[in-house]
Amino acid sequence: MLSCRARNLRDGMSHIARLGISACLLGERVRWDGGQKRDEGLLLACAGRVEWVPVCPERELGLGVPREPIHLRAGSAGVRLVGAESGREHGAAMAAFATRRSRELAAADLDGFVLKSRSPSCGLEALPVYDERGARVLSEDGVGRFAEILRRELPEIVCAEERHLQAPDRREAFLARAAALRRGKRFFAASWSIVELREFLRAEGPLLDAFDPRAGAELEELLAAADGSDALARSIRARFARALTLGDPTAPPR
Ligand code: SF4
Repeated sequence: MLSCRARNLRDGMSHIARLGISACLLGERVRWDGGQKRDEGLLLACAGRVEWVPVCPERELGLGVPREPIHLRAGSAGVRLVGAESGREHGAAMAAFATRRSRELAAADLDGFVLKSRSPSCGLEALPVYDERGARVLSEDGVGRFAEILRRELPEIVCAEERHLQAPDRREAFLARAAALRRGKRFFAASWSIVELREFLRAEGPLLDAFDPRAGAELEELLAAADGSDALARSIRARFARALTLGDPTAPPR
């Protein structure tokens, strides 16, 4: 027999989530060398549960396929995004593109995003940062320029690199969060009463607590003050989303 937590996780995963994805992970030939990085295992595991929204920042920016590879390079004014051979500057154009595209994606109602690791545009962490001449690696703590702005612009979605979604328990934890975020958005977008809000949070409670043990008590406090005002509804919605987006979104539930 399934435990309450397992049941909520399973139920959390029975709903479709809409996830952005680095287009090369879907098999689109958009990489700098004209290749792709289809992640067959991930796509198979998510089949029927996820609607994918592909994005290739470098191609959409107009850099072409194939193109000169780009990388992160240290500079006097911070880390730059430049052509690996030409040194051509792409940082400002990528920042403008990423801000605009992230806002479009917010309107596209995403619940999360799967990003290609080790990409100077899509990677979320641990990217090589080269010295000013691009000759040697100074550090391994760079963040992809598109990924950095996406996270800033869309704080209420879950983002993870594909390499962290290979283990089934981490992948399922990520999908459960994304699916719960979707249910939350649907609930709060419709008209609801305080009684319905209580029912909704009671149903989601075990899942939220599994990811954020303080969420239940804090939501209870907010609920106790529930007066139907828009401000309180926004606080409850924000706390609900925070329980699902705080910390490592691939961490299995406690
Ligand atoms: S990692 Fe990102 S920028 Fe690079 S090919 Fe894939 S989708 Fe495009």
